[in-house]
Amino acid sequence: MKSSESPTSAGFSLLANYLGNDMTSRLVQKMHWALLPIVAPLLTSTPAIAASFGSLAAEEVYYISENLAGRSVGTAKEQETIDYLTQQLVSFGYEPVLQPFTYPGRGGQLYSSYNIVAQRIGTTGKQLIVGAHYDSAPSGIGLAGTFLDRSTLEGTNDNASGMGVLLELAQRLEPETNLTYTFILFGAEEVGLVGSRYYADNLTQQQIKNTVGMINLDSLIVGDYMYFNAGRNATDNPELGNLRDTALDIAAELGIDARTNPGLNAAYPAGTGCCSDLEAFDVIEPLIPVLAVEATNWEIGDLDGYQQTADPRVPFGATWHEPATDNVEFISSTFPGLIEERTANYTQVLNGLLNQLDQQAVPEPTSVTSLAIALAVAGW
Ligand SMILES: [Zn+2]
Repeated sequence: MKSSESPTSAGFSLLANYLGNDMTSRLVQKMHWALLPIVAPLLTSTPAIAASFGSLAAEEVYYISENLAGRSVGTAKEQETIDYLTQQLVSFGYEPVLQPFTYPGRGGQLYSSYNIVAQRIGTTGKQLIVGAHYDSAPSGIGLAGTFLDRSTLEGTNDNASGMGVLLELAQRLEPETNLTYTFILFGAEEVGLVGSRYYADNLTQQQIKNTVGMINLDSLIVGDYMYFNAGRNATDNPELGNLRDTALDIAAELGIDARTNPGLNAAYPAGTGCCSDLEAFDVIEPLIPVLAVEATNWEIGDLDGYQQTADPRVPFGATWHEPATDNVEFISSTFPGLIEERTANYTQVLNGLLNQLDQQAVPEPTSVTSLAIALAVAGW
């Protein structure tokens, strides 16, 4: 199943060559919210659902870490990652599309990347967005303050873990749902939330009004605790914390230890998180509930969630963007079984959350009018 030969590779390589042309890049930049459809191969079989929670997610974490290291924006590995993720979504029965975007890099050079968007259309017109970034951090200054070549960065925690859980949630989704589920693998998160901002900025007012929330999966393994945090706007608008509260309730019912930021640092109020693609969705109007899913420890270091563990075996207490520690070998040997445990627990809680939100999704209010018309027509 994990063939390195993607059925869509040829198409993407052509696309990449195509977009490499300056004139075309400018053209694509002007293609406001234009999605390039992917020519998906014909699929006649649907794969069986994974037997236990987290098994597919963990398998994806290992595969992506070991085969797609150094997938920062603008690299050949980034393109390979896009091909692979698209192939996986197609194998689950989705018809993913690429949303192209460009952004100016250092020296004014224009870079291009893509968001991968896969939808399961529901019956109510309401949508839930589930996102995870697929890029890894580019080379640059590391936690020790020195320059790091990140061409071998596996990004097992940041963010193969988010991709793995997203893929399993997509695979487990029932074929018929009330909500529309929009799964997005964001590009260029590590260079400033570029992909997610482009996506959020291009939502129409109607799409925003029909969005019941956004769930962001980023760095789910290395960290002393599992967290569910709302966006900053939930402090003044408690109803925006509903995804967080429901996720915490489901975790408690399952006996899974999950927490929310206790708010020890005034800059990060209790119950809220930050610093990933959810921020792009926590600013759009009207406001929507956002949920930050991450493993870390909000009670150590600068109390900002950046130091992930108090375990002295982890240099700087964090693995993010560090090729020497954010990899399968280091994480598996330091924390045996943690990749499996966290992917299983997060997948189970989030699968429960998706199902619960689907049951709560009610038809459009117009159905009342429709009912009245139907009754009138029937002579009542
Ligand atoms: Zn990340």
